[in-house]
Amino acid sequence: MPKIGRVFSGIRPTGHAHLGNYLGAIKNYVALQDDYDCVYCIVDLHALTTVEDTADLKQNTYDMALDLLAAGLRPEETIMFVQSHVPQVTELHTILSMVTPLGKLTDLPTFKEVARQHPNNVNYGMVGYPVLMAADIVLYKTDLVPVGIDQAPHIEFTREVVRSFNYRYGTNVLIEPGMKNTEIPKVLGIDGKDKMSKSLNNHIEIAASPEETRQRVMMMVTDPQRMKRTDAGNPDICNVFSLHKIFTSNEEVKRINVECRRAGIGCVDCKKLFAENLNKDLQPFRIKRAEIAAKPGMVEAILADGAKRAGLIAEKTIAEVRQAVQLP
Ligand code: SF4
Repeated sequence: MPKIGRVFSGIRPTGHAHLGNYLGAIKNYVALQDDYDCVYCIVDLHALTTVEDTADLKQNTYDMALDLLAAGLRPEETIMFVQSHVPQVTELHTILSMVTPLGKLTDLPTFKEVARQHPNNVNYGMVGYPVLMAADIVLYKTDLVPVGIDQAPHIEFTREVVRSFNYRYGTNVLIEPGMKNTEIPKVLGIDGKDKMSKSLNNHIEIAASPEETRQRVMMMVTDPQRMKRTDAGNPDICNVFSLHKIFTSNEEVKRINVECRRAGIGCVDCKKLFAENLNKDLQPFRIKRAEIAAKPGMVEAILADGAKRAGLIAEKTIAEVRQAVQLP
């Protein structure tokens, strides 16, 4: 089937993916392959802005790549690579930074937020982060970037940078990317309060064993008003119920919705059922992951091949950019 355009997306090398990554990005990455020529980048350079201890960076990059492959990425058609393996992106970042007003970067809410989270390491990389992201996107002549509604300003920023570049150098070599609005569910952690994240230790790893998964699920916070088994619950404010809607059959979801409100089902049983359904859903992923992991060098070879293919596109773009800028 002919593809209808090129999609680019970057994912951080956070190691083993968790349920939030899986539902928010990875499933979508896999689905997009049917219609688009996909370029997926594991953004190790971006990670350096906030990761000071890089001892695990290599392993975390490998684990993320392995999870993506096990989830259904098809490396024979999709390009998956590590950002730093295609160094042209850093050259484009430098060039694009010359057409980006500094005030615009320091005014971005994302910069303010990351600076607030890392007050002892507010570095230049954090300020330039959106420019590096813009370079990632335009280097591969991207038509569309899949984004949730909250990330739309980043793409708008990239479009502005492209316009500034093309205007300053009287060219049209860089393409303004479009947005592919994606329904990205906000997955709360097992605390039922914050977004699922490894740093908050409120996550459930998708590669965990069924027993580990069950243990994490049993720790999930439910309706806080429901103190005793005999109290009626409210599924509308329960994170377990939100996830049941994704992993459990409609019929069972309807039953839980009714039974919870009249204390006909207890939270322990409800969570056991969720763990069972989650493990069932993740089983093919886990089997495939174990198969790939058992083949030494396979992930590394796929990443090397991805970097080679991405490098060919990048080299062409950067040559056009150098010519447009009239670099000697
Ligand atoms: S019974 Fe299920 S849906 Fe109701 S509060 Fe407990 S865990 Fe949540």
